[in-house]
Amino acid sequence: MRRFKSISPHDGAVLGVANITSTQEMQEKVAAARAALPGWRALGTDGRVAKMRRFHEVFSIHKEEFAKLATKEMGKPLSESVADLESALGYLGKYLDIAPGVLAPEVTYEGNGEVHTVYREPYGVAAVIVPWNYPASNFVWGACQALIAGNTVVFKSSEEVPMTSQMIERMMREAGMPEHVFTAVYGRGPVGALLSRQEIDLICFTGSTEVGKSLYRTAASKMIKIVMDLGGSAPGIVFEDADLDQATASIFSARFSNAGQMCDALKRLIVHEKVWDPLVERLVGRLGMVQLGDPMLPQFQMGPLVSQKQLEVIERQVDDAVKKGAIVMAGGKRPGLIGPYYEPTLLSQITAEMRVWREETFGPVLPLVRFSTEEEAVALANDTDYGLGAYVYSRDLPRAARVASQLQSGMVSINGADYSRPENPFGGMKKSGIGRAHGRWGFEDVTQAKIVARRK
Ligand code: NAD
Repeated sequence: MRRFKSISPHDGAVLGVANITSTQEMQEKVAAARAALPGWRALGTDGRVAKMRRFHEVFSIHKEEFAKLATKEMGKPLSESVADLESALGYLGKYLDIAPGVLAPEVTYEGNGEVHTVYREPYGVAAVIVPWNYPASNFVWGACQALIAGNTVVFKSSEEVPMTSQMIERMMREAGMPEHVFTAVYGRGPVGALLSRQEIDLICFTGSTEVGKSLYRTAASKMIKIVMDLGGSAPGIVFEDADLDQATASIFSARFSNAGQMCDALKRLIVHEKVWDPLVERLVGRLGMVQLGDPMLPQFQMGPLVSQKQLEVIERQVDDAVKKGAIVMAGGKRPGLIGPYYEPTLLSQITAEMRVWREETFGPVLPLVRFSTEEEAVALANDTDYGLGAYVYSRDLPRAARVASQLQSGMVSINGADYSRPENPFGGMKKSGIGRAHGRWGFEDVTQAKIVARRK
């Protein structure tokens, strides 16, 4: 049996081992998930909601243990892991509240002696493949609407966080979930690819655009549905009339939370030339207050990146920018700690050929560019293959709304308002994804509509 270790990025401690799922085990798990489908479906929405409410209770009981494990496994400060837990539990609670209404049969036509009713039916066995950056939310956002809607789930978490995945499996058992309704598989990318090639009916993928493309091809060859939440390079536009203190706080949190490892983080800042100097001064000051260190200790606001590999990607992106003429205004290097730490970084003199502009930067690096007209700002914001989040800062609300309508992204925040809520659709345009998570949109994407027309 092949195994791999879970290693803490902060100090290299081995947190545990996971068995890499073999082809035979994979086939058995997928077959068992299929066999579990009729029973899970027969419970009806109310029965499944009751089962998942019990899981919600168990998850709540273990939330501190889970948060600590997540921090050790992927390096975010404990306060941020606790926030991830609270948020994930809130999302799951809301899904459970709205499921009976959203999934209820809907009479669409009654007349000429006929009644027409739309039913929302599960696809079947869902392969849910997720990353590592928010171990609680990645699982809840990726798997729970599919489960509540009546799909069974084979779950592939990231190779960076196998211990939190094992804990989710244990909590599912403790909650008394019917056997094989939820199972997990373990390993690196090839295990995800192997899962996607099995007899499955739906793929729910959260991760990079590159992997999303290959899964899209697999889904196409099988003619099955795929829902994808992918990478992003969200623009932030700061107009000359913005409240700069408010904007600074929002930009800092939207870019540097979780050491910048957030899909819809603000990854390119577009600043009106009149407020360039005061905004840069505020941002440099704010970054100077960040202390990097052991994510388990409350005095440190930023931990390591998830892995050495991730650190090297960020370094190469910054090196490329500097070679092409970018100026480092803050950070731009390792802080001299053991582990994959990187200082929060601001870059100016950015050009469109630089990797920090063209690619997603999944770390604490923010490139800044200047603009003078609204049209220019919108063009710069849309100058990306991605289309996940976007941020606009202006006291002129009609202008902010006008700009929001022109941005090619699935989600827009104006003046720091948080669009992430379980009632709202979450997802991207362009190469940031296909489909939406949460609310009625999320349930619609993991179910198929069936119309039944009958005579009265
Ligand atoms: P990744 O795409 O490398 O991996 C994601 C998952 O896919 C992991 O479990 C991995 O093992 C698996 N995988 C890798 N290769 C595979 C293959 N060929 N077939 C099937 N599965 C495969 O992404 P990552 O580095 O783990 O996470 C960071 C990325 O995720 C960033 O691009 C980020 O923007 C994105 N992300 C998006 C959202 C969103 O909601 N839009 C949320 C979180 C992260």
